[in-house]
Parts: sequence; structure tokens; C-alpha cells
Amino acid sequence: MVFQAVGKLLGKHSKIKKKATAETEKLYLEPRYTSARILDADILMLVALPKGLNVEEWLASNASAFYNHVSLMYGSISEFCTISSCPTMKAWAMQIQWTDEKGRKRKCSGPQYADYAASIIQKILTDEDLVPTKHCKDFPKAFKPAIQKTFRFLFHLLGHIYTCHFKTVVNLELHPHLNTLYLHLLLFCAEFHLLDSKEMALSEDLTTALINSSPCPKTSGSHSRNT
Ligand SMILES: [Zn+2]
Repeated sequence: MVFQAVGKLLGKHSKIKKKATAETEKLYLEPRYTSARILDADILMLVALPKGLNVEEWLASNASAFYNHVSLMYGSISEFCTISSCPTMKAWAMQIQWTDEKGRKRKCSGPQYADYAASIIQKILTDEDLVPTKHCKDFPKAFKPAIQKTFRFLFHLLGHIYTCHFKTVVNLELHPHLNTLYLHLLLFCAEFHLLDSKEMALSEDLTTALINSSPCPKTSGSHSRNT
């Protein structure tokens, strides 16, 4: 069901896809990498709202978990993400600008964007009025837009890792983790309408390749890392 929803959303924006194909080499689309996962079969079950659980609580707890996983992934390559290596924040075919609190667009580097995004996400997730943790409090109207904002940042950060740091990820043998995390996040966003379909279309080629490729858990080698 979620795969179909993703397909529908992506189909709407096939023109955007064509525009992006003129890009430089996309190492992450090679089948030897797209088939690498740490987990595959249960992603759809992981995404679905468990029976009896409040949807806002499910979104909040997943936002927090995804934030931790994306932070760990970005942390693994952060020493290679500098102002000189990434003077602009590139993710997929986009140059992402930072929008400040007054709505002004500002240019920023990859590491600056990661810092800004982390501080805003932390602010959102620890704001008791926005994301209440006590049973007596209701979730406000501003909750969903804030969660959507959180996932947009996470999607951009994963996009930056794929677009600018995938070789490092492969060297660290973390690409099965990255693919699993990306697919899980994207399917979660599709299920709960957390990302704009135009944004999702930016990585349509990767999403399609990951959905279509057979996972080969053993090809990722051992869990040991040669750094
Ligand atoms: Zn970077």
C-alpha cells in the first residue's frame, strides 16, 4: 500500500526526474549498492501505526528515533563535510538555502545546514507545548507542520550524504545502513504525508532502485569496519 502511494506521488512529478538526470555520476544507484540493506522485510510493518496507538505519539516518537539515526549517520561522515568540501548545501539536484526565522533565504554550507537543522529539530522535539509528553496535554495544531519540518530537514541531510559523501559511506561500509534508513524514512513520510511530493520526486530514482532491488544482506561483508 505504501509502495503504491509512493509510486503515485512520484508519478506526478516525473518531469522533475528528467531534469535531474543530467547530473553527475550517481554512485548510489549502482545495483551492487542499492541491494545492500541491514533489514528489508519488515520496513512496511515498522512504518504502520500500531493498533491502539495515538498517531501524534507515533509521529513524535519516530521523529525522535529518525533524528537520532540520521545524526549518527551524518556524524560518521561529518569530518569530511566541511565548508571547503561542501561550500553549498547540495542534496539530490537541489542547492538548498537556509530559511531563517524571519523567512529570509540565506546561502549556507553543508555543515552549517546540518548545525542549523539539528538545533531546530532539537528545539521542536523538546518543546513540551509543541510535543507534549504528559498524558493530560493535547497535541496542538502546530504539531503536524513542525513534524513535517523535522522530516524535511532529515530528508535533506540524507540527500546531502547520498549526493556528496556516498563514497565515504561505502568506504566505511555503512551503505546498507544508509539505504535501510533512507527507505524506512521515505516510506514513513509517504504513509503519513510528511514530505511534499515535489521533494520526494527529487530522489525518485533512488527510491525506485531500492524498492526494486533484491536485498542481499550478505554482500555487505562483515560488520567490522576497516577505517
Ligand atoms: Zn557535506
